[in-house]
Amino acid sequence: MTLPMKDRFALPEGMIYLDGNSLGPLPKGVSERVGDMMRDEWGAHLIKGWNLDGWMAQPSRVGDMVGRIIGAPEGSVVMGDTLSLKVYQALSAALQMRPDRKVILSDSGNFPTDLYIAEGLVRHLGHGHELRVVAPEDVADAITDDIAVAMLTQVDYRTGRMHDMNAITAKAHGAGAVMIWDLAHSAGAVPVDMTASGAEFAVGCTYKYLNGGPGAPAFIYVRPDLADRIDPALAGWLGHEAPFAFDLEYRPAPGIERMRVGTPPVLQMAALEEAMKIWDEVDMADVRAASLRLSDLFIAEVEASCPDLTLASPRDRALRGSQVSFHFENGYAAMQALIARGVIGDFRAPDIMRFGFTPLYLDEDDVRGAAAILAEILRDRLWDRPEYHARARVT
Ligand SMILES: *Cc1c(COP(=O)(O)O)cnc(C)c1O
Repeated sequence: MTLPMKDRFALPEGMIYLDGNSLGPLPKGVSERVGDMMRDEWGAHLIKGWNLDGWMAQPSRVGDMVGRIIGAPEGSVVMGDTLSLKVYQALSAALQMRPDRKVILSDSGNFPTDLYIAEGLVRHLGHGHELRVVAPEDVADAITDDIAVAMLTQVDYRTGRMHDMNAITAKAHGAGAVMIWDLAHSAGAVPVDMTASGAEFAVGCTYKYLNGGPGAPAFIYVRPDLADRIDPALAGWLGHEAPFAFDLEYRPAPGIERMRVGTPPVLQMAALEEAMKIWDEVDMADVRAASLRLSDLFIAEVEASCPDLTLASPRDRALRGSQVSFHFENGYAAMQALIARGVIGDFRAPDIMRFGFTPLYLDEDDVRGAAAILAEILRDRLWDRPEYHARARVT
């Protein structure tokens, strides 16, 4: 299948959407699938749907679809909850695997929720753990033999800087640490091979590059040889070996199923399951090649026409995920002016204008068009209007 596949998405006419790294667009077929599901499954079958329509098996069925694009074998990924909760599950399990060590290593480019969850866990465990946060470029050197768990997001949400997953995992393992990768900006964006990495855990969300829709459930991967040894901190009934035995004591389900917690978001997952079908038709290597072509073109166009902007992303394409960011002191207002003209990116404090490149539905003309509008906004200072300076709740 050649990229892009624009006709597979319900993109509004005249919009250039460079924010698929934050919320993917609506794939065609999803509205119909969710509508049918509500009428034919929920509406017609009511509670029988759990068995009749396979709702109970959905978290692992969809998990396998995600597994295929992150290089994880069948039965090693399960869906549910939000990414923040999946971070908690992975980190609590990982810390328990290294009871003699007290340090969680992460970096200052990590998304705040990952760090907040770690801080909260440290406080509540009360075992004297420490969250050690270093600069992204210092991570490899900071992997010392007191580290219990290295918990990193592969692609930095602000700059797009990408860690070398295999090299860092090998270094962590060499130091005796457990490795957790957050793939929020990797799944569907760059080729990932969890098996090759050897990492123990991975987590990620599905409303960004996987186009599952706002509030789509997160995923968690546990290396198959470990899954049966995890003692889940969130020991919910649907992660029990026999939920409908209603035992008073918790016994974890075999394998990855123990990372389930409670009732899955069935409607939301129906949308995701439909959205995931497109990945059967594309090769991640082709997606990556197109993403780099579009990103390089955008950098060249912006640098040629917008002297006030400075590149915040790595120039070396091998070190970059699927987004490009620029520093600009009036970045918030400039982004509002861009959005008003139909070019959608977003802003990340303090001064980052962020643009995601998603080859499923973007081509070179979109990139050139977006860069031209940005150049005009900067040249004519079109951003400097009061309404573009007023901060909304979500930036
Ligand atoms: C987007 C993102 C999140 C969001 O977490 P939710 O619980 O889904 O809101 C977490 N971590 C990273 C690294 C992200 O990029």
